[in-house]
Formats: sequence, structure tokens, C-alpha cells
Amino acid sequence: MSTKFSVAIDSETGNERTVKELDMIPNGDKRLKHLQCPICGCSLSFRHSGVNQACFATKKNIEHAENCELRVQYENAKRQIRQTGEEDVRLTNKMRLSRAYYWYLQISRQLDLDAGVEPKKRIRSKKSTPKSRHKDDKTVVVSTAKLIPKITGESTISEEQIQGRRVPTARKQPSTLIESDVNQTINFGGILEDVIVESNHIWLVISSADVKKRVIINEAALNLAPVNFTELMATLKSRLKSLGKNPIFSCVIETIPSSKEGSIQCMIRDVSDILINGKAVSVYLAKLNQNK
Ligand SMILES: [Zn+2]
Repeated sequence: MSTKFSVAIDSETGNERTVKELDMIPNGDKRLKHLQCPICGCSLSFRHSGVNQACFATKKNIEHAENCELRVQYENAKRQIRQTGEEDVRLTNKMRLSRAYYWYLQISRQLDLDAGVEPKKRIRSKKSTPKSRHKDDKTVVVSTAKLIPKITGESTISEEQIQGRRVPTARKQPSTLIESDVNQTINFGGILEDVIVESNHIWLVISSADVKKRVIINEAALNLAPVNFTELMATLKSRLKSLGKNPIFSCVIETIPSSKEGSIQCMIRDVSDILINGKAVSVYLAKLNQNK
């Protein structure tokens, strides 16, 4: 059991020792071996700072006296180890699409709310009884690393290893994208304002709250795209004009520093990740033709 107090007594010398002082003394030093609780005198061991703050702990099978005010009941305290490590996870196409689709739903809902449209009521399943937050002897301490989503490049852990763990991607719209979002894999979305087809790349103009941001599909991505992709995008551009309401674009993209200082370039790595109103570009266009 560890306790949160800052001073112990050295039983050899009778002097007080502070946590700060003791933390400077290397592990195994005999000055760490004769520590006592300043109130009840039970023997203590010292835990150096590391993941957690430095602290005193009672030795095995020893407790503070029943009436010692430094006795801390840890049975109910949550023991949590925060590991600072980071692991790269390469998002699969399925993972990217599910993120993009979820972001589309969120943006769509937000736009409805802004326009005063009542959100559709969902039938919620009955909530299960919440699990007790109390921790007991059975509490397992799990150390977890921060998962960094990537589209390309090496990953340190595979999808199987992270099953059941969420790989968070920041969700951004043009109006919420900031300078520090550079060099990340983010879930990007907004209103599709325009499509600009150039000889070896395509720009998508995305807006939110009157802020516009261009997203590039560069030559590398176009080379890997289906043969009719550029044609599809040209069709999409021409159809945009006749639509009453522009569709919502969403896609997991990469942000890289732009040649223009302090700005970010948004890049689409894989055109199959692009969702227009939650659908693949070809499916979206086919639907439009159906409704003609
Ligand atoms: Zn004590």
C-alpha cells in the first residue's frame, strides 16, 4: 500500500527525509532501507519517480497502525499506469472508410441542426446497468500505448494486435483545421464546393462555416486510381452546379507542410477512401442519375 505524504523518518539517524531528497538517492542505497512512517513508525519502502510520482509504500505484510492518519485505503483507488510510448497503426481501407462514414454522419447531423431540422429520433436499446467503478483485488492494471494512425508507411503493430482498441483520428473541418494539425492522419470533411481537374492532379474545394480548404489528389494517388476516376470527378464537377444542395465530402487524409509558410496541405492518398454523402464517388453519381 502506498501513501501520499512527503516525509519519512530515517530510523538510523532519527532525521526526517523528504520524498524529493530520497528520489535523488539511487535504488539499493542503504539510506532507503530504514524509513519509517513519521506518525506510527511502521517501516516503509521508497518508490522512485518514474511513470508515477515518487512515494512511500508500506513493506510487504506491514500496515500503518489502525489509527494512523497516513493510512490510505487503496482498495478502491484506481491504479492506472500511463505509458508514454507511441505505436504506429496503419489504418486499413475498412478502418478509413468507417471513420470517414461516421464523420459524414456527424457533419450531416450538425448541418441539420444548424438549419433547424429536427434530428431523427433513434430507438435506443435499454442501457445496461453500469459496471461498478470500484476497484478491488481483481483490478487489473493494463498499460496502453498511444496509437498513432497512419495511412502509409511502416506500422509497429498490426490490426490484429489492436483488436478492440480504438485508434483515434482527429476529426476536422476546414474551419477547425489549425497549423498544429500538420503531419497527421486526420478525418477530414465538409461541404464539397468544387472539383478542379488539372493535368496531373485534382483539387477538391471543401468548406465549413465560410472557411474553404483545398484537398489535393496528387499524381501518385491518381496513378493508383481506377482508369475512369478523372472522368468521374469531371462528371461530379458538372453535376455540382445543378444540385440544390452541395454534398458532404469526408475522407481520412494526410496533412503535410505546405510550401506556403504556416499552412497545411491536405492530401488524399487513396481515392477509394473518398466519400460523397457517405457513398463512394461512383455510387453517389449512379444514385444521382437514378433520381434524374
Ligand atoms: Zn503510519
